[in-house]
Amino acid sequence: MPAVLRVALPVPLPGLFDYLPPTVGAACVGSRVLVPFGRHKLVGMVVAIDAEAAVGSSRLKQVLRLLDDGALLDPELMQTLAWAADYWLGAPGEAYANALPLALREAKPLPPIGDEYWSLSGAGRSAHDAGSRRGGSKALLGLLAAGALSAQELSERQPGWRDAARRLAAAGLLERSERPPPDRPLPPSLAPQLSDEQQQAVAAVDASLGRYQPFLLDGVTGSGKTEVYLALIEQVLAQGRQALLLVPEIGLAPQTVRRLRERLGVIVEVLHSNLSEGDRARAWLRARAGSARVILGTRSAVFTPLPQAGLIIVDEEHDSAYKQQEGFRYHARDLALVRARALGVPVLLGSGTPSLESLANAEAGRYRTLHLRARPGAIRPPQVQIIDMRAQRLEHGMSPALLGAVADTVARGEQALVFRNRRGYAPVLLCHACGWHAGCPRCDRPLTLHAGRRQLICHHCDYRQRVPAACPTCGAGDLKPQGQGTERLEEALLAQFPQVPVLRVDRETTRRRDAFEQLLATLKDDQPAILVGTQMLAKGHDLPNLTLVAIVGVDEGLHSIDFRAGERLAQLVVQVAGRAGRARKPGRVVLQTHQPEHPLLRSLLAHGYAAAARELLAERRLIQLPPYSYQVLLRAEAPQREQVDAFLAAAHAALPVNAQLQIAGPMSAPMPLRAGRHRGQLLLEAASRRTLHGRLRSWQLALIALPSARKVRWSLDVDPIDLY
Ligand code: ADP
Ligand code: ZN
Ligand code: ZN
Repeated sequence: MPAVLRVALPVPLPGLFDYLPPTVGAACVGSRVLVPFGRHKLVGMVVAIDAEAAVGSSRLKQVLRLLDDGALLDPELMQTLAWAADYWLGAPGEAYANALPLALREAKPLPPIGDEYWSLSGAGRSAHDAGSRRGGSKALLGLLAAGALSAQELSERQPGWRDAARRLAAAGLLERSERPPPDRPLPPSLAPQLSDEQQQAVAAVDASLGRYQPFLLDGVTGSGKTEVYLALIEQVLAQGRQALLLVPEIGLAPQTVRRLRERLGVIVEVLHSNLSEGDRARAWLRARAGSARVILGTRSAVFTPLPQAGLIIVDEEHDSAYKQQEGFRYHARDLALVRARALGVPVLLGSGTPSLESLANAEAGRYRTLHLRARPGAIRPPQVQIIDMRAQRLEHGMSPALLGAVADTVARGEQALVFRNRRGYAPVLLCHACGWHAGCPRCDRPLTLHAGRRQLICHHCDYRQRVPAACPTCGAGDLKPQGQGTERLEEALLAQFPQVPVLRVDRETTRRRDAFEQLLATLKDDQPAILVGTQMLAKGHDLPNLTLVAIVGVDEGLHSIDFRAGERLAQLVVQVAGRAGRARKPGRVVLQTHQPEHPLLRSLLAHGYAAAARELLAERRLIQLPPYSYQVLLRAEAPQREQVDAFLAAAHAALPVNAQLQIAGPMSAPMPLRAGRHRGQLLLEAASRRTLHGRLRSWQLALIALPSARKVRWSLDVDPIDLY
């Protein structure tokens, strides 16, 4: 009986596929193979080698080609991925596809793992001397005139340089080469003297190096968490081990890379989705080879191979960006814990506004909590003030008190941040004559007015249309924008403060790569300015002259039906507020609301995040919501409502009978129509994870077999973080 390879393929089907071994080479668990699949060829991962086939082996196809002589994925990663696919109900192949950089999912040899360097060719030198190029090309020639530079250095000095490099290389002016990575390229810079709290935190984690132990590092922005990370990474490096640092967004990466590299004096490998595929594969392979000692990355970097793991850190652990919301719906923070356990290393979750999940774990004694309460260097925490905007005369949604605070700030030569978590000019365009409003035909929700682009845009499905000159219903020309988005606030602030630069930061103004960093870089530290923007502004690099945070409105968050809305709102307010007064100047925060008496706002502002989170947790416990219960959400959508209803009813009927399982639905999704598709859901809840997970796989298989499943698009979301 020939051996049979059980292969995970990148297709959305649960289960593995059996193939006969290739004629050439010996496949092993963890190596990639090219296999025939229908009329296609796919790259798959060998997950197991069995003596016998499930299907008669005479009917099995043979592997076309073995792509790796040894295992590309080590046993720890293989096991963790199998666990993850099982836990989040993913197709095994999709889990592997998430773990591997795109370039490694192709049937090509592994790329070399040297450093990528760029230099001028002879012709390039002449072109530089002649000054014959313009713009980015000229700048790049100038940078390289002094000698070759690595891709990483170029990314720091000239963001977006690759376009110019491609042009110049095609013209024969630049040359690309590979060099082995230097060992310790820079002398590390000196660390500040750590505070007592920081030292205690470092000592606690330090004492756990070499074994699994989760820690929650609870400290507001600016409290010195990154210094704690740095001190620990130094220890890990001194032991010859690797450290993995996860951050929620790439926006945070450039500044953090610089800081890590300058302090530690080692190369920091960066892994995120905005990287070129070659760079990404290279960084991944270096981590696998053990030559990358410090790896910084976003969500999918949690899958980085760590053969010499020492420590895993998850910064801003509460951030929802760690949860993948489509395809394989894993949570990188939770997976970081699983990996740390498998690798036998401590895992440090840092946040100024920890998730209720992590707080509950700490409360239950599963995590050890480390506190950073003081802010080094800051005079005192920002003062927070509620502005009651009821019955106020509003200027484009801004009260006199809020505008007054901005005026005082810029008059002192300082900077103000005006926060509003809505892009566009206005969330609604209304006819004052007849009451018509512009709605999305595909979602049944209002369209957002984008005045600068003269467009109405649906923020749910991206449907766009031109702004009508007159009301399509009654013909009146009296169309009025209702409510405010960042674009409108920008306009109003420009009119109010013509002497002061007003900078808008939202998805619209920062679409290009690095645009966010570049925008912020135009701010002068000693000049007044007004920043207006969405939650993107809650993060990003330090602005020492920023002393006022003005929150224009959060009332939508107080009304939301999502049970996590309160937690999100509290986190957002605290994170944005944390931007004020980070350096030597004291900060101030004003928050205007129509509900100054709202208990969440009151407890948040009077007693801080920890107190508000305690109250939210008590509430969740009382009504048995996560983290005190476990959920799985079945979502379905289809062009017709009946198709959704039929599928969900059949799915409901296929559920195992279990008294401990609560079932809500079938019901409409909070957005019943989106992008022209009707949406519904079924929510499963149980007090124990085991009750819930016990029969999920068999239910999933039953769902796949349902005839009504063919008419809908459906997915299962384990531990959903929103119910949309
Ligand atoms: P967080 O990561 O919590 O936002 P950081 O570690 O970035 O905080 O620290 C905030 C600022 O305070 C940084 O400029 C950092 O250099 C400085 N800082 C942190 N710890 C100390 C310390 N012990 N002594 C002096 N400065 C410190
Ligand atoms: Zn009208
Ligand atoms: Zn829409």
